[in-house]
Amino acid sequence: MKIIIAGAGIGGLQAAKLLAAKGHDVTIYEKSAEGELGQDWYEDIDYKLFNDIKIKLPEGSYRAENVNLVPPFTDDYIEIDIPKDQRKWRVNRKKLIEQMLNDAVEKGAKIVYSTPCRKLIIKGERVGGVVAGANKDKLYCDLVIDACGINSPLRKSLPDEFGVTKEPGEDEYYSAFRGVFDTYPDMPIPKQKKKLFVKFMGQPGFSRVICEPGDKVDVFVSKMGRMSRFEFETLFRQLRIENQIIGYEDLVRGVFAKIPVRYPLTKIVVDGYVAVGDSAFMNAQMLGNGIADSVRAGQMLGETINEANSPAARSLWKYQVSYFKQIAYERFLVDIMRRMLLKSKSDEIRFLLEGGFLTKEEIKTVVLGKGIIFSVKFIIDKFGVGRKKFKLYSELIKVLKTGKAAMDTAKQIPAKYDNAKINAWQKKIEKFYK
Ligand SMILES: Cc1cc2nc3c(=O)[nH]c(=O)nc-3n(C[C@H](O)[C@H](O)[C@H](O)COP(=O)(O)OP(=O)(O)OC[C@H]3O[C@@H](n4cnc5c(N)ncnc54)[C@H](O)[C@@H]3O)c2cc1C
Repeated sequence: MKIIIAGAGIGGLQAAKLLAAKGHDVTIYEKSAEGELGQDWYEDIDYKLFNDIKIKLPEGSYRAENVNLVPPFTDDYIEIDIPKDQRKWRVNRKKLIEQMLNDAVEKGAKIVYSTPCRKLIIKGERVGGVVAGANKDKLYCDLVIDACGINSPLRKSLPDEFGVTKEPGEDEYYSAFRGVFDTYPDMPIPKQKKKLFVKFMGQPGFSRVICEPGDKVDVFVSKMGRMSRFEFETLFRQLRIENQIIGYEDLVRGVFAKIPVRYPLTKIVVDGYVAVGDSAFMNAQMLGNGIADSVRAGQMLGETINEANSPAARSLWKYQVSYFKQIAYERFLVDIMRRMLLKSKSDEIRFLLEGGFLTKEEIKTVVLGKGIIFSVKFIIDKFGVGRKKFKLYSELIKVLKTGKAAMDTAKQIPAKYDNAKINAWQKKIEKFYK
């Protein structure tokens, strides 16, 4: 098959490797220039990924420090204690992308740089290629794999009747800044090397300060929905005041980006088109799972296409089913909990995190991306503490119940590609988030 991969997104690269190895004609069209892929900073990645998928761990990777949660308007720390051999890897993003791209190219995939994909070519009820590059060339193919990330212009160009959600809602993405700075001269490195600020300054979002080896400080500031320049500067200034270790030299040219944090798209395949990675919202950023989930999904996608050798939605659907049953279903519960957490008042969050309501083990479960499962035992166990803030207690029970129902519904994804059944299932899921 002739396959176009739009964007050198990490899930697309994993699929490219498998597909090229099988003999498909694979070309990646990437908008950045050669040598400009990825940033020279470190990402948190699930420690099991590299063994599961047999990817070489890039040189210089190291185990992450324990996370210390900081509730809003406090300087308290709740250390999430994870044994060192189960902590995430800190992996250099630029090296990982280069390595995955080289692997794909070695298997026969081609890459064309400085070529933005602009929109899809629609042929009746299927996708037939992409319009790309400065000259808006029409590039025809059997299958388009959309690995362009959250702002994918391809996903947005799909006709409404194909049933694919085009944009995340205002409470379904973060506006974020990320930069790496030097350490402030002579300032001692704090004991808590990794801090995650929940609703910093009461704003809905997460901010993070990580002291890295080599006297570097990795700073991440985010806010749900739009973040004005003034809001960013206020958050960043306060983060500096509370973390005086942050120096003034920007070592890696900080970037502003949009990050999806919602449940994954409920439809990621149509005839001749499939999405992987952030273009399918396979991310729940507070967990740092975007890279691992995208690579795993890319693996499932490559295997599905190689097995079926067809770009038809009914064949590609098997990829979506595998991804939902193995990974995505848990994100539906986490998303419902995230929405509640970020809408709660600062004193309520403090009560949940340090008022004895949630145990350290339960907080750890949430941080690790599993979510707390609704049970009668949970309702009874928590009543003693919960009655002090009964409204919040009742709300949390309701949220956990809804989250479990959403997760169960996600798992009940139709086994076969049947438009009527898929529409009904999508509607059922979307109701949980209204
Ligand atoms: C600041 C920040 C910090 C993050 N930290 C972590 C972390 O610690 N751990 C983690 O697991 N995840 C993290 N993520 C999320 C993670 O980067 C993504 O979830 C993951 O990379 C999957 O995204 P992607 O590869 O699909 O898309 P992207 O990473 O957005 O890559 C898309 C690629 O497509 C290209 N492209 C975009 N538009 C076009 C177009 N029109 N035509 C052609 N090419 C195009 C881009 O140049 C890019 O190369 C972070 C994200 C950000 C922004």
